Amino acid sequence: MAYEYVAPLADMRFVLEQVLEAPRSWHACPAFAELDIHTASAVLDEAAKFAGEVLQPTNAAGDLEGCTLDADGRVHTPRGYREAYQAFVEGGWPALPCDPAWGGQGLPLVLDAAMREMLSACNHAWNMYPDLLHGAYETLKAHGSEALKARYLRRLASGEWLAAMALTEPQAGSDLGALRTKAEPRPDGSVAVSGQKIFISGADHDLTDNVVHLVLVRLPDAPAGSKGLSLALVPKVLDDGTRNAWFVDGLEKKMGIKGSATCAVRYEGATGWLVGEPHRGLAAMFLMMNSARLHVGLQGLGHQEMAVQNALRYAAERVQFRTPIVHTPAMRHLLLRAQALVEGQRVIAYRAALAIDEAHHHEDPARRADAAALAALLTPVVKAFCTHHGFHGAAAMQQVFGGYGYVHEYGIEQTVRDARIAMVYEGTNEIQAIDLLQRKVLGDGGAAVQGLLADCEAEAARIDATGDAALAPFAAALRAQIAAAGEVTAAVAAAARTDAEAPLRAADDYLFGLAHLLLAWAWAASARAAAAMPAGPFGEAKLARSRYAVEQLLPQAGVHWQRARRCGLELPALAR
Ligand SMILES: Cc1cc2nc3c(=O)[nH]c(=O)nc-3n(C[C@H](O)[C@H](O)[C@H](O)COP(=O)(O)OP(=O)(O)OC[C@H]3O[C@@H](n4cnc5c(N)ncnc54)[C@H](O)[C@@H]3O)c2cc1C
Repeated sequence: MAYEYVAPLADMRFVLEQVLEAPRSWHACPAFAELDIHTASAVLDEAAKFAGEVLQPTNAAGDLEGCTLDADGRVHTPRGYREAYQAFVEGGWPALPCDPAWGGQGLPLVLDAAMREMLSACNHAWNMYPDLLHGAYETLKAHGSEALKARYLRRLASGEWLAAMALTEPQAGSDLGALRTKAEPRPDGSVAVSGQKIFISGADHDLTDNVVHLVLVRLPDAPAGSKGLSLALVPKVLDDGTRNAWFVDGLEKKMGIKGSATCAVRYEGATGWLVGEPHRGLAAMFLMMNSARLHVGLQGLGHQEMAVQNALRYAAERVQFRTPIVHTPAMRHLLLRAQALVEGQRVIAYRAALAIDEAHHHEDPARRADAAALAALLTPVVKAFCTHHGFHGAAAMQQVFGGYGYVHEYGIEQTVRDARIAMVYEGTNEIQAIDLLQRKVLGDGGAAVQGLLADCEAEAARIDATGDAALAPFAAALRAQIAAAGEVTAAVAAAARTDAEAPLRAADDYLFGLAHLLLAWAWAASARAAAAMPAGPFGEAKLARSRYAVEQLLPQAGVHWQRARRCGLELPALAR
């Protein structure tokens, strides 16, 4: 059985049009006022063709071939990657959500999100190269000097040049405050960057002539810690055509995403220019990291979709005990849980992207502020929860393949290996959980989370208003999650007043609890939308799966809320 991808276009459209009512949101955003669901669907149809027909055929071969570093220090990507990238650029895909003023197509980020889901499903490793482009573009647009914008923005938006994000150093992973790479100011306004970075995705490759590094550095007068970091743009090729003074010392041999070049980079007085204010680099970089975090969450979603649709096909074909295994209750549970989780997470991830669109473009300033708070709250949840299930969900689907799932040619083992890194990079999932609870929830006195709870209550009230008794359990399940989230948030806030470590002990379970609240909302909204559709198999199946999800998957929320509530308990010593 070939390991293949069919973009879930009907589901994507259902989420955008029926569940999230994205066209209403677009009409309230002057930048997207002309956009309708038919045009949006046509864009996704074309993206699906690129992902399935051009990109997916390069996936398994690229995994076997990997990247190479030649004797001259040049990085080569697997066969077919360059051609796929050229087709991607010619199709105008890099510029999809960029500003028309910089050569972009000016389409909403939520459509870009759906495209990212497809690209990650079809070839995560290849997608690593263009995935950072949009974040680099946004960072430069918001913080770059006019000269830097003039030189780089159009070329990034078009995909003529690609970007890399250089943060990590051997001693500085999660703790970026420990990084040492230096930037010495020069009289001409540039800086000389020196130091060593590791694990830099796409720092060099053969897809574009130039690669633009955004590098976290320390100026000579920098205060210690993360407040002393600045951001520098350091290209591979300088304006006069000469090669800049940085070098790739090695490529990592990795568990997965083997077609993505993970580079150790040495900067030896390389020429760069500061982006944004000195010592404010982390704030500038956060734009890029937030965009990247949403993209990484979408990688997890893509992996789950790829895994579940292939597992479903396999289960329908594989006969044991004279029955296709898809009819066994055990396999049916596995597949149903996976499908329901993918469907719920898609609603959440697209909601986050829609919130980012509204935060930038909504005509009402109050709505923009609310949307920004929602986007900030949802981003770490999407990153951590979708990537957790990207790996664990793909591994669950590997079970459906039995022993064949362990064999390369069946494809699923690559998805499992590729999915694992997304739990680690762009801020590990533990760092996401701390960011969520300490900064996004407790940091604003609970205002953002109260806004989310109010949104969820509005969905429950909307279900009540339908008067449909079949939907009542969804409203009840959602209200139970709203109550648990409110109660646990208050308990953690109270514990934090006397015990600074309490939120750190609660963080992972709090994130998973909140993700389950969001799932309850997603399944409730999906059920309401499905019930409102003309009778037919799509809506009926959606309703049945949402009902199954609430009964079978929501009980897990109780475990997370209970553990988070007990954050006052000190942790015992570990056995040695
Ligand atoms: C394939 C790949 C691609 C990458 N791409 C890039 C890139 O393009 N650019 C870039 O700059 N970096 C990149 N990275 C680096 C990646 O972002 C780091 O590996 C990641 O941030 C974690 O840092 P670390 O590996 O040093 O782990 P550590 O920070 O040492 O963490 C180890 C473990 O401890 C946990 N931990 C650490 N501190 C805390 C804490 N305070 N509370 C709770 N738990 C904690 C972590 O969650 C993790 O589980 C990449 C890495 C890989 C493997």
